[in-house]
Amino acid sequence: MDRKKLMVGNWKMNANHLEAIQMVQKLSYRLQPDDYDRVEVVVTPPFTALRSVQTVIEADRLLLRLGAQNSFWENEGAFTGEVSPTMLAKLGVSYVILGHSERRTHFGETDEMVNRRVRAVMTAGMSPVICVGETLEQREGGSTEQVVLGQVRGGLASLSSGLGSINIAYEPVWAIGTGHNAAPDDAGSVCELIRNELESSHGVDVAESVRILYGGSVNAGNIKGFMAKRHVDGALVGGASLDPDGFASVIRYWL
Ligand code: PEP
Repeated sequence: MDRKKLMVGNWKMNANHLEAIQMVQKLSYRLQPDDYDRVEVVVTPPFTALRSVQTVIEADRLLLRLGAQNSFWENEGAFTGEVSPTMLAKLGVSYVILGHSERRTHFGETDEMVNRRVRAVMTAGMSPVICVGETLEQREGGSTEQVVLGQVRGGLASLSSGLGSINIAYEPVWAIGTGHNAAPDDAGSVCELIRNELESSHGVDVAESVRILYGGSVNAGNIKGFMAKRHVDGALVGGASLDPDGFASVIRYWL
């Protein structure tokens, strides 16, 4: 199946709403209408900038898609500080990053919590980008496959429909923000393992529809190598997505 490529810029906790507007406008100037035929481009600013970026996307009729960096699983109630899936959907958010390693590491997110978020985000009509990946210690201990597939199974637990709209980002923790990207061959092999797991647990149609991204120190200089791998359908890009020029070069990886 020909899966449309997906490039997601994870801005993390960077950019106030004014800076976010500028970044989105600059990025859009650097992309051509044809680029969007090949690649779906998502920006995920912090929550505080979502409304501003939504307004720019709508007013300027940009083809960029809006994403969020997390979501709670309840839609409303006494959950001080949380942001709900229905609130995000109302802002025109169509993708939500879930289970990022920074959330797992700093905020104690478990597979069970990630799974609750995944189900809530899908119920609200958005598409999750579920992050999985091993630490350096786990990699050196030879448990990459076990860790990654365990996170995939945990994130998708008890889901039986709509799985084709899910995205999974393979992000080795040791490669995130370090400047040490995985070798494209290794990343491609892990993405293939994920695809095989999807096929055995959810069938060939789901496995063929799900987009599997690589993330971890992606930049304009190394993106081509990842995109050449059969089971890599795009990238989750952190640091390099903060620079509109750099992110545009990643998005236009074929040039
Ligand atoms: C990320 O934020 O998910 C990420 C992969 O960051 P970086 O590209 O900076 O490694």
